Amino acid sequence: MSDIWIMRIGHRPERDKRVTTHVALSSRALGAKGIYVDTPDPVLEENIRSVVDRFGGDYTIKTGVTWKEAMRGFKGKVVHLTMYGERVDVALPKIPRDEDIMIIVGAEKVPIEVYQAADFNVSVGNQPHSEIAALAIFLDRFTEGQALYADRGGKLTVVPNERGKTVVDLSK
Ligand code: SAM
Repeated sequence: MSDIWIMRIGHRPERDKRVTTHVALSSRALGAKGIYVDTPDPVLEENIRSVVDRFGGDYTIKTGVTWKEAMRGFKGKVVHLTMYGERVDVALPKIPRDEDIMIIVGAEKVPIEVYQAADFNVSVGNQPHSEIAALAIFLDRFTEGQALYADRGGKLTVVPNERGKTVVDLSK
């Protein structure tokens, strides 16, 4: 599988703190390689790196990068998630699996240039909902569920359990 990158635009550090954190954590859990966030936010970076440090993987975060900067030099295909886009079931077969993809998600109104610059404008249903939900459904479909229980080699590993909580702490 090629690399999946996320571009989060319109991030407002105070207002979107939790949502952008969840965009990053959900995309990490569902197989993305890293995230770019347009507005500088050192606290957000620190929080995500702390999760990666404990739970493993090589997910990266860089804030203060505009979508234009992230796209410059990016070699793969750009997928913009929007409720106005093409149906996800129609778009998915057209998105190449042997190239990296960059998935753009918004916060408030997304500039029209993003629609024009994207290779694919994809909707996850045509109702307004959330960047976290849209990203999670898209990633799960794109990766066919393969990322969900992939080993990240973290210090902390959660072992699936019918009841109770089983966490292996390899740092001890
Ligand atoms: N009103 C904004 C607009 O017109 O661009 C969208 C706001 S929505 C809260 C934030 C983001 O969630 C969108 O930019 C889009 O990436 C994602 N989103 C929301 N609903 C979606 C849907 N049905 N399909 C795909 N993405 C969606």
